[in-house]
Amino acid sequence: MIRLQNALFSAACFLSLISPSAQAHSVTPLSHFQMPSTMIARVQFKNYKLEMGKLNQLHLDVAGIDIKNKSADVVINDAEFRKLQELGFDVSVSMSTLLMRGPDTQYKNPAEIETLLNDFHARFPDLTQLKEVGKSLQGRSIWAIKISAQANIHSPNKPVVLFNGMHHAREVMGPEVALDIIETLLTNYGKNNKITHWVDSTEIWVMPMFNVDGNNIVWNEDNMWRKNARDNFGVDINRNYPYAWGSCNGSSAFKHAQDYRGTAPASEPETKVMMNLVKEIRPVFDISYHSYSELVIYPMGCDGKRTQNADVVEKIGKEMGSKLGYTAGTAWETLYSVDGSDIDWMYSEYQVIPYVIEVNSSKDGFQPDYSKRAPTVELNRQAWQHLLDRLDGPGIRGVVTAKNKNVSDFNVKVQKKNGTVFVDYMNYKGNADGSFHVVLNPGDYKLTISGPSIQTNIQETSVGQSRTDLNINL
Ligand SMILES: [Zn+2]
Repeated sequence: MIRLQNALFSAACFLSLISPSAQAHSVTPLSHFQMPSTMIARVQFKNYKLEMGKLNQLHLDVAGIDIKNKSADVVINDAEFRKLQELGFDVSVSMSTLLMRGPDTQYKNPAEIETLLNDFHARFPDLTQLKEVGKSLQGRSIWAIKISAQANIHSPNKPVVLFNGMHHAREVMGPEVALDIIETLLTNYGKNNKITHWVDSTEIWVMPMFNVDGNNIVWNEDNMWRKNARDNFGVDINRNYPYAWGSCNGSSAFKHAQDYRGTAPASEPETKVMMNLVKEIRPVFDISYHSYSELVIYPMGCDGKRTQNADVVEKIGKEMGSKLGYTAGTAWETLYSVDGSDIDWMYSEYQVIPYVIEVNSSKDGFQPDYSKRAPTVELNRQAWQHLLDRLDGPGIRGVVTAKNKNVSDFNVKVQKKNGTVFVDYMNYKGNADGSFHVVLNPGDYKLTISGPSIQTNIQETSVGQSRTDLNINL
């Protein structure tokens, strides 16, 4: 199967294909098309959870959802449209999200992202460090920019956050949100007290465009391309992470499926690039920007699973959701089970508190008019700024040293006081620079710090409304 050449279809032929017969649920395939036609169709549910589960079993290309109106949008061809009808789904063509037009050219391609990042670095050399964090499958550079006062020097005393855009190539608003983070921080440094404080006290990494190869396909071949550029089918990078890879029917083993997980965990170079970056910088928080559906999604992805510290992870997610007016929940609560995702891997491997934010609504779709950019990025400042604020909120941060050297290999066992006894809460893998940062709710905690080259150390401390700094010399 070759990539669907959506650009070949004009809006006129699209309309002749699906309307008005689609409204009557009987699409007549047109034989003169060489390739299957694609459309965005809307599936209307009566019972959201039940029918969404059934829809997910089909591994169709679910573009987005509208929780309030109990509907899902799917990118499908004629045959899939008829299949949905046969299975009894209430399906109709969604005229509001015509996909033929392609993105507004003001959205960015990989070369433009690179130029913009270079410009930011040239304008703010002391506040930024530009890094090629790796190469894509086709050899394109994947860039990230670090924003921090004295950006060239790493400090274990500064907590790290990561914001990344575009795991999925067609979701063109993600890079715009990421670029707005960069611009907002850099241009307001020294002018706005909060922003100056964040840039002074934090290492903020922003990777605006992760799936550079896929985005190249969006601009040149198929504006509905989602996956990376593996052969002619692509792998869904966000089903390719090693944690619980392929474990709960939250991805597909069929290579043409939009949620194809690849041949093995972390088989894709892009996946490895993200894993290496996270391993190196060890963020406290992460946001991966996607579109669309107006959701804040937190781990875990498989049905019924939650994080150990869900009282913290889900609370912060819901706080961001209420600031944005988005629905917050796990993937299985809001959409369907997802396995092999970035957020599950980041959480499980390094206890990052990670979120997926699906910006824009089903009215906007993947590639809204560029006039939608300003309200979207402005709204989304509420969420990433909430995380930067939360770094100073309840939690314990410290650096572990022994014989005046930072300890690179250690674990922190966290227990929380419940009545008169401490009960196990979570385990945190210490960072290679000796630092640790455990985000908590207020309460009494016991920390047990242990590692192969250090003597076990136990600390009891109360956590209040602001962060407790606890440097430990062994
Ligand atoms: Zn996505």
